[in-house]
Amino acid sequence: MNAPAASGSLLPEFAQRPIPPEFLQALSQRFGAQCSTAMAVREQHGRDEGSIAAPPPSAVVFAESTRDVQDAIALASQYAVPVIPYGAGSSLEGHLLAVQGGISLDVSRMNRILSVNTEDLTVTVQPGITRKQLNEAIKDTGFFFPIDPGADASIGGMTATRASGTNAVRYGTMRENVLALELVTASGDVIRTGTRAKKSSAGYDLTRLIVGSEGTLGVATEITLKLYPLPEAVSAAICSFPSIEAAVRTVIQTIQIGVPIARVELIDVNSVRMVNTYSKLELREEPMLLMEFHGSPTGVKEQAEMVQDIAGEFGGNAFEWAERPEDRTRLFTARHNAYFAAVASRPGCRCITTDACVPISRLADALLDSVREADESAIPYFLVGHVGDGNFHFGYLIDPESSDERERAERLNHQLVERAIGVGGTCTGEHGVGIHKMQFLRDETGDGAVEMMRAIKRALDPKNILNPGKIFAL
Ligand SMILES: Cc1cc2nc3c(=O)[nH]c(=O)nc-3n(C[C@H](O)[C@H](O)[C@H](O)COP(=O)(O)OP(=O)(O)OC[C@H]3O[C@@H](n4cnc5c(N)ncnc54)[C@H](O)[C@@H]3O)c2cc1C
Repeated sequence: MNAPAASGSLLPEFAQRPIPPEFLQALSQRFGAQCSTAMAVREQHGRDEGSIAAPPPSAVVFAESTRDVQDAIALASQYAVPVIPYGAGSSLEGHLLAVQGGISLDVSRMNRILSVNTEDLTVTVQPGITRKQLNEAIKDTGFFFPIDPGADASIGGMTATRASGTNAVRYGTMRENVLALELVTASGDVIRTGTRAKKSSAGYDLTRLIVGSEGTLGVATEITLKLYPLPEAVSAAICSFPSIEAAVRTVIQTIQIGVPIARVELIDVNSVRMVNTYSKLELREEPMLLMEFHGSPTGVKEQAEMVQDIAGEFGGNAFEWAERPEDRTRLFTARHNAYFAAVASRPGCRCITTDACVPISRLADALLDSVREADESAIPYFLVGHVGDGNFHFGYLIDPESSDERERAERLNHQLVERAIGVGGTCTGEHGVGIHKMQFLRDETGDGAVEMMRAIKRALDPKNILNPGKIFAL
C-alpha cells in the first residue's frame, strides 16, 4: 500500500511494508494488555512534534523490561516488521513516523533509576525516565544532570537524537555525557557498550555510534550518564539589544574570550511578543539574550560583569537580574514555552522548525541573511537559539492546508541550511535528521560518508527493521 506522500516537494516519498496478521497475533499473545491496536494509541505514537504526517503504526507495545524489548524485536525480526522505539514523542524531524509501517515500541514505562554513584559522578537509568523525573529524583544528592532540550524528553530519546539544549555551552551534549549503554540489537540480543570509567581506549567507540543513531541501530535499555555538582551560586540575567546583530556580536565575543557562561539564549522580537502574550510577561519588545551563570559567588559575579561590559559595547541595555530560583525558573520556562507560544499565536498552524549550527565566528553571517529572508517571506516566524554553541532555530508557522506556505517555508529552511553548511556548519545541531533532513545530510557529509552509514546499518540490521527510512533512504 502506498502511503500519502509527505507534503512538500523537498520531502521524501514513502511506501509501507505489509504487516502479516500472524505477527500481530503473536505480538498480542506475548504482550496481552501491554500491546494496543486502538487507533487513538496508534495515532498518538505515529506522530512527533514536527509538521510531517504519515499513517500510524499497526500496534503499540509498551515494554516494561529489557526482556520485553528483546521479545518484541525478536518477533519483529522473525516477520521482518519495522520497530520504531518511542520515548516521550517530542522529536521534531519525523523520527517517529511509521514511514514503512510496523509497530511502535514505547519504553516510557522503563523509567527507573538503577544506580546513583555520586562518588564517581555517574547515574545509570532506564531509557524511559525523563530528564525532569531524573533531576527531581536526585535533587537531594547535590548533583544534577544538565542536558536540557526544553521538552521533558526521555533519556533514551535524548540519547538517540544526541540532544543538547540550553546548558550545552557549558556542559556539552548527550555525546559528551553518555558513558555506557545496554542495547538490544536488531536480532534481539543484548550488548553493553562503554563503562563507568571516565575514559577508555577499548576498541571501537560503540557508545558514540549509538548516541545519535535515532533508533536505527538498537534500542537502549540502560544508559549511564555523567552527573555534575549543583553549582554553589547561580544567577540569571536578561539583556535587550537594539538589533539581533548586536546580541549575536555580544555572544561571539563572550565565547571568544572564554567566559564559562552556562546558558545564553537568543530570543528575537517576534518570540518576545509571543512569549509575553502566552506566559503573561512584560519583557521589553526587543531582541534579547537570556543568560545564566554558574560557579562560586565570586566567579558568577566576575562572569556577569564581563558579559555586561561586552553587552554595553554593543548597545545592550536594561540588564535585569533574576537571583531568586523562582524568577529564574519563570524566565527559562517562558523560553522553553517559546515554541508553544508561537504555535498558539497562529491558531491551527503547524510549525516547521529549523536547527542549524555553525562555528561561533560565523554565527552573525549565518543568522542575519536568514532573518532577512524570513522577513521578506511574509510567513509568520520566530527565532530562538542556543547561540553560545552557534545553534539557532527558526520556526515558520504555516497553514497546514496551504501547500504554497509549506513550500515557501521549506525553501527558507533549505536556504538557511545551505548557508550553515557553506560556512562550515551542520544541517542539525541537536534535533537530528529523521526524515526531514535526509537530503541535507548528504549535502553536508557527501555521498561517501552516507554510504558508510548505510554499510553500518546493513551490517547491524540486515532486515532493516529498526526505525527504517530514517537518516538515509534504505
Ligand atoms: C518545544 C520543544 C523544544 C525542543 N528543544 C530542543 C532543544 O533545545 N534541544 C534538543 O536537542 N532538542 C529539542 N527538542 C527536540 C526533542 O525534545 C529531542 O529530540 C528529544 O531528544 C527527543 O526525546 P524523546 O524522548 O521525546 O524521544 P522520541 O521523540 O520519543 O524519539 C526520538 C528518537 O529517538 C528514538 N528513541 C527513543 N527512545 C529510544 C531508545 N530507548 N533507544 C533507541 N532509540 C530511541 C526514536 O525512535 C526516535 O527516532 C525540542 C522539542 C520540542 C517539542
